Amino acid sequence: KSRNANEVEFLQAVKEVFDSLVPVLAKHPHYIKHGILERVVEPERLITFRVPWMDDHGNVKVNRAFRVQFNSSLGPYKGGLRFHPSVNSSIIKFLGFEQIFKNSLTGQPIGGGKGGSDFDPKGKSDTEIMRFTQSFMTELCKYIGPDVDVPAGDIGVGAREIGFMFGQYKRIRGGFEAGVLTGKGLGYGGSLARKEATGYGAVYFVEEMMKDNKLSFKDSTVVVSGSGNVSIYAMEKAMQLGAKVVACSDSSGYIYDENGIDLHTVKRLKEIEYKRISEYVQEHPHAKFVSGFEGIWSIPCDIALPCATQNEIDESAAKVLVANGVKAVGEGANMPSTLEAIDVFLNNKILFAPAKAANAGGVSVSALEMAQNSSRLSWTFEEVDAKLQDIMKNIYQESVKASEIYGAPGNLVVGANIAGFVKVADAMVSQGLV
Ligand code: NDP
Repeated sequence: KSRNANEVEFLQAVKEVFDSLVPVLAKHPHYIKHGILERVVEPERLITFRVPWMDDHGNVKVNRAFRVQFNSSLGPYKGGLRFHPSVNSSIIKFLGFEQIFKNSLTGQPIGGGKGGSDFDPKGKSDTEIMRFTQSFMTELCKYIGPDVDVPAGDIGVGAREIGFMFGQYKRIRGGFEAGVLTGKGLGYGGSLARKEATGYGAVYFVEEMMKDNKLSFKDSTVVVSGSGNVSIYAMEKAMQLGAKVVACSDSSGYIYDENGIDLHTVKRLKEIEYKRISEYVQEHPHAKFVSGFEGIWSIPCDIALPCATQNEIDESAAKVLVANGVKAVGEGANMPSTLEAIDVFLNNKILFAPAKAANAGGVSVSALEMAQNSSRLSWTFEEVDAKLQDIMKNIYQESVKASEIYGAPGNLVVGANIAGFVKVADAMVSQGLV
């Protein structure tokens, strides 16, 4: 703890995992002898670098960037890149740490990594985004490769940014190494269903959890925070399964539409025009926009899907959700609930799908994109979607099984942490003290 004293988000993520591992260490004391806990919290490598770039007015700007190559016991490092002013080493390490166990849960041969920069894409022109991402990749390209480390998108990094980065990587390194990045455009090595994968996967996971409890998305009222990549496709799949999604948000506030959100408008505003969610009400005057994104959790719903950012549901928001009768919470974002909020959900027997299990669909399809790139094949949307559904079902079942074996039946936080950890720990033991 003293070594990472200022890294609050990282410590929070480690605490959540380590609290779950008590029964595992009792059953497998050799993990202690092999120093697995001490080793698994220390990244194999944390790279920090400067990103100088020029804005449209000729001003020099400098941002700070990171790539954490956290654990490669199961495969090449894999994890997204985040561009957001809040990015620092704590955020990147918490995300990279989570990624190790998430990637393990997918059953795919991928290790854990994450990266990003404190660059704020909001309000930047396309040419500024291009100059920044090219400068970013000029340094990052020294550390990544299809068999070494394969970044993807995250907050602030979507198809446009991945495209610019891929172009710059290719220009510097030569050749056409499609497998160096995932989330690429469909015309140059991207996979069908990657864009949809995290949101769809989260809904598949929650549907599976609800089915076990004789519930379903059908006819339920859903609130989804955020209006980015994960949120949009969580909303789409929830609607396809017969739910009414009444609210979504961005960092400035939320919209409430009692008729159900019109997803065409949200997609146009966010995916094409890069506008604020508040503009939704211009086209749908009966809907309302409320400033401040936290208030979204006061809207009564059956299912809450936090899909924006870390720690967006605190203890008091969790209590309001419970008081309003929420039945299930599915984490599309990474660590959107504080530790206290998770306790509120579990103590009140709310069905709770933790992030590292519920949002693993994105990285799963990224691994399928890597497989298509190396075999030079392109699978159909239906093929990829069917594989995604199988993977999410499997993650759910493995998490349930681990929760039962280790004495916490139905607690998917414990189940997912243990199921993810054991595979990584076994591989680390087999590979010796490295
Ligand atoms: P996007 O950038 O596409 O969307 C993020 C959304 O969340 C935007 O609406 C954004 O609003 C809002 N948001 C971001 N930061 C904050 C903040 N500090 N406070 C309030 N709102 C905020 O990102 P993604 O949809 O890709 O990612 C969302 C979450 O899902 C993240 O936690 C990410 O780590 C996780 N995730 C993403 C995966 C993927 O495949 N993309 C895979 C697995 C997890 P605004 O535009 O105003 O900033």
